Amino acid sequence: MLNFNDTQKAFAYKSDEELKKARFLFGLMQYNALVKLGTLLTPLALKIKFPIKGIIRKTLFQQFVGGASLEESSPVISNLEKEKVSVILDYGVEGGEYNDEKYDHSLNEFIKVIRFASTKKNAPFISVKITGLSSTNLLEKLNLNAYEHFEFVSDQKMNEKINALDSSEKDAWNKLLKRTDIICDTASQSGVGIMIDAEETWIQDPIDYITILMSRKYNKNKAVVYNTIQFYRHDRIAFMHASNQDSVQHGYQFAVKIVRGAYMEKERARAQKLNYSSPIHSDKKSVDYDYDQAIEFLTQHESAPSLIVASHNEKSTQLAVTLSQKKETADKQLKLHFSQLYGMSDHLTFNLASEGYDVSKYLPFGPIEEVIPYLMRRAQENSSVAGQTNRELTLIKEECKRRGI
Ligand SMILES: Cc1cc2nc3c(=O)[nH]c(=O)nc-3n(C[C@H](O)[C@H](O)[C@H](O)COP(=O)(O)OP(=O)(O)OC[C@H]3O[C@@H](n4cnc5c(N)ncnc54)[C@H](O)[C@@H]3O)c2cc1C
Repeated sequence: MLNFNDTQKAFAYKSDEELKKARFLFGLMQYNALVKLGTLLTPLALKIKFPIKGIIRKTLFQQFVGGASLEESSPVISNLEKEKVSVILDYGVEGGEYNDEKYDHSLNEFIKVIRFASTKKNAPFISVKITGLSSTNLLEKLNLNAYEHFEFVSDQKMNEKINALDSSEKDAWNKLLKRTDIICDTASQSGVGIMIDAEETWIQDPIDYITILMSRKYNKNKAVVYNTIQFYRHDRIAFMHASNQDSVQHGYQFAVKIVRGAYMEKERARAQKLNYSSPIHSDKKSVDYDYDQAIEFLTQHESAPSLIVASHNEKSTQLAVTLSQKKETADKQLKLHFSQLYGMSDHLTFNLASEGYDVSKYLPFGPIEEVIPYLMRRAQENSSVAGQTNRELTLIKEECKRRGI
């Protein structure tokens, strides 16, 4: 068993001041009502240019974001390198109805991030949100909307959807494919992995399809493109098996990041409003069961998929550690990586690193306005409804006590 309770190791890279700030922030996030109000009012306040950027910068932004630019994030990346922790660089652009100019700008930014990552010793991956490269309306049109019975994003089904688009939409789809292809090609040549983030269910099918098309092309000899599977969805075990099958059929490396999922409340609210059955499991226990089933399948499967366990859950992390040790004795070596969000679960990250596991922090960067949706999700996740802030806060307090601060 790994010991995740060593707070000295976990917070070694944090100064006393930083630790006290974290204690204050996680303490505040215990108040659900405050988080609810904050997540509601902050986007509005920014829209009317109410001066709250300074407060956000000193609190949520400092805790969860690397900096406003790649250059500003460099000290954080170097600090993590000293602790043998790598980073998944996340250019925090997402969602919205923009134009080609904006999407091409995002494309250029992603290319810059890949080039930057290739110069760092500890930046093996970058993450990409497809909604930063294309209109969400288009993605919504291409969704299969199979909320009750699982449907895989087969070529046939997706081509039927694509053929039903009008000519300007087809043009937009081809541009999206081209942008994604340029990103994956650059990444492949630079030795950097691309993680395609999973987003909301009503746009996820085309995201999965693009990722599968890119995996077929770029994962022939090594894992370049990683899909993300959200196990709070009740149909994702079936999706995982179908994706693995696709990799066998087309002869490529199955590479996947597994998460529980970040949009639970939004998903449930939409399903209720539009009167369809929710795609999200009705309770946490079922999510945990599916997540751990996935770890079991992916760590033990003979094809040895490239697996990223992206979680703050101690039990799941421990399970992956235990099962990976079992797999070491088998022929094909498992490619296992762990990851936690920057600013969360340092006790997992730094204790895993000190035991020699491959582990990273998911590190977003970007101007405040662009990372707001991300920050609001972190505040929600860390309020006591869904996440495990209590655990986080307890460990921070323990370390403060140990340091006498
Ligand atoms: C490296 C990294 C990359 C990520 N990329 C993505 C991504 O691409 N897409 C994405 O959506 N998220 C992504 N996430 C966020 C991730 O989904 C959340 O951090 C995660 O859900 C928190 O769960 P946990 O595994 O840390 O464990 P826990 O704290 O054990 O679980 C909390 C999660 O369980 C689920 N849950 C809680 N209560 C219930 C309930 N009553 N019913 C059903 N489900 C419930 C929710 O998903 C909740 O977030 C990423 C996280 C990391 C670390």
